[in-house]
Amino acid sequence: MKKPNSMDECDFFTNRILEDNTKLYAWIPKEQNIVNVIYTCGNCGFKGELSQKYEKPITFICEDCGEKIVVKPLKKGKRGRKKKKK
Ligand SMILES: [Zn+2]
Repeated sequence: MKKPNSMDECDFFTNRILEDNTKLYAWIPKEQNIVNVIYTCGNCGFKGELSQKYEKPITFICEDCGEKIVVKPLKKGKRGRKKKKK
């Protein structure tokens, strides 16, 4: 899967690490109702990519362990860092 070269190519773009440690790179190509996701599962470490219909919140299932991964929308204006439990 090809990552977008710039924000101009997508309606939405996110690159972050979720609370469950899943690394995620997701974007919605312009004027399309799909979301492309490149991820590393925080549960099993599997690296995968998928393309699916866009629905809020973005939710997908790890192809390897079946973990349900939900991409919660970020709240605007808050950029605080969460402490990680280990
Ligand atoms: Zn997994």
